[in-house]
Amino acid sequence: TQNATPGVLSLEPYKPGMPLDELQRQLGISDAIKLASNENPLGPSPKVKAALAEAIANQDLALYPDGGGFKLKAAVAKMHGIDPSRVTLGNGSNDMLEFLGRIYLGPGRAAMFSQHAFAVYPIVTQSQSAEAVIVPALPRSHPTMPLGHDLEGFKKLWRDDISIVFIANPNNPTGTWLPAQDIEAFLAFVPKQVIVVLDEAYWEYLDPALRGDVRGWLDKYPNLVVTHTFSKTYGLASLRAGYALSSPEVADLMNRVRQPFNNNSLALLAAEVALADQEHVRKSVALNNSERARLEAELARLGLSWLPSQANFLAIDFGRDAAPIHQALLQKGIIVRPTASYEMPNFLRITIGTPAQNDRLLKALQEILQ
Ligand code: PMP
Repeated sequence: TQNATPGVLSLEPYKPGMPLDELQRQLGISDAIKLASNENPLGPSPKVKAALAEAIANQDLALYPDGGGFKLKAAVAKMHGIDPSRVTLGNGSNDMLEFLGRIYLGPGRAAMFSQHAFAVYPIVTQSQSAEAVIVPALPRSHPTMPLGHDLEGFKKLWRDDISIVFIANPNNPTGTWLPAQDIEAFLAFVPKQVIVVLDEAYWEYLDPALRGDVRGWLDKYPNLVVTHTFSKTYGLASLRAGYALSSPEVADLMNRVRQPFNNNSLALLAAEVALADQEHVRKSVALNNSERARLEAELARLGLSWLPSQANFLAIDFGRDAAPIHQALLQKGIIVRPTASYEMPNFLRITIGTPAQNDRLLKALQEILQ
């Protein structure tokens, strides 16, 4: 093992949460709930299951999938009003982050991202033996965006060896977001040879009034790559599908490094059917927003604070080590996400669930905290 690259040897593996069936087995119960991974509690559009059942019955599963993802790419391009040559498909949007790392990072190069940002950025960086330039987040006491990305700080720490910047908007695990004009100003600041990845995994949850003109930015900044996923609002985390919007040149580079059949045929089909059902997306976002507001009101009643969120989760601040609360919730059959590995040991990240799931979480928190 010592002959592995220094970058890989420096890595900590990503730790996925406990699977739901494992907790049910451990507790001997059948009604445990998972509010840990920011999935859609409504699941995908009902049309997806029907299409998958039909495909499993009639498709020849021995054949390779469409390696070019022609139909899904066309649908994504149409929805965003851009040419299909600017769309890349991935096995989850993580796949695209990995492609970009392989294309732009290596020894002697650096990636820049925020403290308390998404866990995959350091993995992608270190696996390429590149250096991570981690920008301190805004302070907890910041009036509007506590622990959010500090783009002024990104500028202050700028170095010439940076070849890629990762920005999550909204960010995970904080839920914080960036004003569109700040993103645009940052794009104007970054040298044109440096790739800026705008990771918009939670884009559908972002208030439309807060969204930037991403299409305009893509035209103006050929070094911009925007990533989206089918894992969140579209409710398809299990099947793994995501996509990137970029210049055709960057899409061409991503196509060179991706595995020829990185999306399986069922994921391609499910994503295509899910994308066509925007009514389900609206319904999912509306439920998320009303339940998030209700949870916030109830958390305030419990004397808790949390970070402002434009996503489908809340980072709750317990003001003390949250590990015992995480364990106590597990004992009550509720899986949430500890954020100690994100340098936020006093927080737990909880996904907004269905009204019944949220009621159960609130009741459990009240019992644990009293
Ligand atoms: N970016 C962010 C900010 C995320 O939170 C996630 C999911 N946890 C992803 C990307 C990757 O999601 P997926 O690979 O399922 O598309």
